[in-house]
Amino acid sequence: MLDARYSIRTHVGGTLRTDDLGETVTLAGWVHRRRDHGGLIFIDLRDREGLVQCVFDPDVSGAAFALAERVRPEWVVELTGTVRHRPEGTVNPNLPTGEVEVVISAATVLNTSETPPFEIDSAIETDETLRLKYRYIDIRRPEVLAALTLRDRVTQRFRKELEQRGFLEVETPILTKSTPEGARDFIVPSRMSPGEFYALPQSPQLFKQLLMVAGLERYYQIARCFRDEDLRADRQPEFTQVDIEMSFVRDEDVLAMMEDIMRGVMKEAGVDFSTPLARMPYAEAMDRFGSDRPDTRFGMELHCLTGTFSTSEFKVFSGALASGGRIKGINAKGAGDWSRSKIDALNQLAIDSGAKGLAWIAFPSGGDVRSPIAKFLSEAEMAGVQEVLAVEPGDLVLMIADAHDLANEVLGTLRLKVADELGVVREGYSALWVTDFPLFKYNAEEGGWSASHHPFTRPFDEHLDLIESDPGAVLSYSYDLVMNGLEIGGGTLRIHDAALQRRVLAQLGLDPAQSDEQFGFLLEALSLGAPPHGGIALGLDRLIMLLAGKHSIRDVIAFPKTSSGSCPLTGAPDEVSARQLREVHLKRD
Ligand code: ASP
Repeated sequence: MLDARYSIRTHVGGTLRTDDLGETVTLAGWVHRRRDHGGLIFIDLRDREGLVQCVFDPDVSGAAFALAERVRPEWVVELTGTVRHRPEGTVNPNLPTGEVEVVISAATVLNTSETPPFEIDSAIETDETLRLKYRYIDIRRPEVLAALTLRDRVTQRFRKELEQRGFLEVETPILTKSTPEGARDFIVPSRMSPGEFYALPQSPQLFKQLLMVAGLERYYQIARCFRDEDLRADRQPEFTQVDIEMSFVRDEDVLAMMEDIMRGVMKEAGVDFSTPLARMPYAEAMDRFGSDRPDTRFGMELHCLTGTFSTSEFKVFSGALASGGRIKGINAKGAGDWSRSKIDALNQLAIDSGAKGLAWIAFPSGGDVRSPIAKFLSEAEMAGVQEVLAVEPGDLVLMIADAHDLANEVLGTLRLKVADELGVVREGYSALWVTDFPLFKYNAEEGGWSASHHPFTRPFDEHLDLIESDPGAVLSYSYDLVMNGLEIGGGTLRIHDAALQRRVLAQLGLDPAQSDEQFGFLLEALSLGAPPHGGIALGLDRLIMLLAGKHSIRDVIAFPKTSSGSCPLTGAPDEVSARQLREVHLKRD
């Protein structure tokens, strides 16, 4: 809470209550609104804590009244007066200061203001680029201020919870060498080393591991991370992680510690968070929800229809099965009466998501079944679909016949889309751990294996023999914290053995020389007494976005970038002078 110490104020206007009745107070803030009632002028004075009504009466002070006649919204003023109870009938129960008002005896203008580009009001819809250009005006809106205040409280609570558990906060470099997290690096030229570049960290991953080798045992950092990737509502080129690493732990320990901390943090935001959280292996999440970050607040789960169609004569189905694929479906409950064009839009979404097409059967609440494929299906197959998906009149069956992973993913996308369209109620907070991710994923375009999390993730002990022979089958000690269908955080146990790290890097396509060149410093550290260790990083922006009930992380970042990565306020990114380019040994293309 803001107080009046160290300032020209005696009190903060937004904190005045009936306890302050009779006090002479000096306030400072912004003119929020001015109402001229003929004989009297009312000004709502705004500060960080809120609004308070100030009354200007020519009988109390002619000078103050004259000043009140001339002030405009967003002028900055210092006001002195006496706190009194509002007259009967004028109490405002919607305002924390609504029982009192301040009768002003002296007033000073500290600064004037041009007419602001938009009104300081939560209810106002303003173009986002304009809001970001004048972000300092936007932040004056109570709603934006509330999000930043929540962010502060949550961040402080993380610090407190971590500090109580013996974690040390350590800063790691921003100018560094590339840390692979699967995104593109931002690179920074170096004046002192012509032709060489720093990379901005995609995360402090390698440094936090080195801190474990260094014997710190428990580290954390509220860390800024940089990833040059395409932006979305929940992605920014720079974002903040609560980054954590611990030594001598099993995956159980990291999860238990994180759940304990999250209970405190969620409480800070007024959310009851019951633990232990459910755990779901990655394979099950994909099978049941078609997503590694399943929104488990509603059903509409994926079901396997491969058995139902094992002898199908419908070419699309038999063809998919013959090439090793699966047939999976969901019951879009309540969508059986959707129009053809609405279902066609789902088909398009399936195609855009990589499927060859969508097979659908609508069971209207009255009338005949509608489906372009029903004529190819036997009675037994129709009955089988209805049984597996518990179909009732009014339901819509959506099926994808394709490679197993693709069928799951596409149905996962359709499931969310249908839930949105149907307005399925998704309230409250639902969190779970998704665990046991595959160590590698196959990259068809480049024809090789890449790390599904990052290359430092420890494979299951019992899968070590499969690294070279069957890389796709190797699972890892890994866990993502998923809340309401968003990945809030993720982590892994790490490889702490140099030889194993080399084997994994080799499987990722790096020969020994390349491994040494890129990760020699890590490999060396792992051979100099590295303890077993593991950790996690939470996406602070996303968590705050959820807690603040926002749909974009831009709403919970003080100075975010637009979706094209620019800053309308400063104009960044911007050109630099020819001299600056020369100094860093760069030539424009
Ligand atoms: N560095 C990882 C990430 O940013 C998190 C972790 O493994 O701790 O996703």
